[in-house]
Amino acid sequence: MKGLKLSSLDESGRSKVKVGPVTFGEGFVIVAGPCSVESEAQMMETAHSVKSASADMLRGGAYKPRSSPYEFQGLGLDGLKILRKAGDETGLPVVTEVMDPRDVTMVGEYADMLQIGTRNMNNFALLKEVGKSDKPVLLKRGMYSTIEEWLNSAEYVLSEGSSGVVLCERGIKTHETYTRNTLDLSAVPAVRELSRLPIITDPSHGTGRTSLIAPMCLASVASGADGIIVEVHAHPEDALSDKDQALDPEQFSGIVKKARELRSFMEKGSMKR
Ligand code: PEP
Ligand code: MN
Repeated sequence: MKGLKLSSLDESGRSKVKVGPVTFGEGFVIVAGPCSVESEAQMMETAHSVKSASADMLRGGAYKPRSSPYEFQGLGLDGLKILRKAGDETGLPVVTEVMDPRDVTMVGEYADMLQIGTRNMNNFALLKEVGKSDKPVLLKRGMYSTIEEWLNSAEYVLSEGSSGVVLCERGIKTHETYTRNTLDLSAVPAVRELSRLPIITDPSHGTGRTSLIAPMCLASVASGADGIIVEVHAHPEDALSDKDQALDPEQFSGIVKKARELRSFMEKGSMKR
């Protein structure tokens, strides 16, 4: 693929991206937490539940890109503070979305990793700003974007001196309506043959349905992904955003066990990536 300078795969090998004690590109990284930080009680309960299920990292949105301006927009700065507290209490590094170039420095004061959401993959001003930050970046694929456009967005971040980019396949728009998006798992091996960057998947936004998340997590392992990010809520029925795709702690813990089992089977046998 032409024009990729910093993200392409060459003799220097694959990138590893460190976020505190977690390394993307080494083993299978599981990131979990609620779609949105809703309250201190909700965040703490969920954080402790994902920690006890052995998640590696915590997620939670403080600035939410919602389809309607009348829906819950996130707690903003208060949400960042709660997320930080949950990370400190559980010892899990935290990732959260930043939507505005003016907020990058402030969000970086609370988060260990900055997430660029699907709707902002083409926001070049934002990509440059997160690239200047000393925090690594989780770059979601634009829902209407090709793999080439996505990798070029990673170049924007890296060309500003970023400490690291992890790609996230979160589903693209197709004519299908039963699923919220179409999780493009072929993007995983495609990216791995083009790019040195670690790639994880998001089966929560990729399907929009709790019943489909476990099989898509396992399929992500089989596809060669470096990890997954999934939405978990201590009480899914009360979730203020993305309720239909919120796993409860028990469902999440089952997924973790199976995903790790499949990954270790693959590492040992002839299935090695
Ligand atoms: C999210 O992870 O909460 C989110 C909004 O994801 P996406 O940008 O992939 O829709
Ligand atoms: Mn969500």
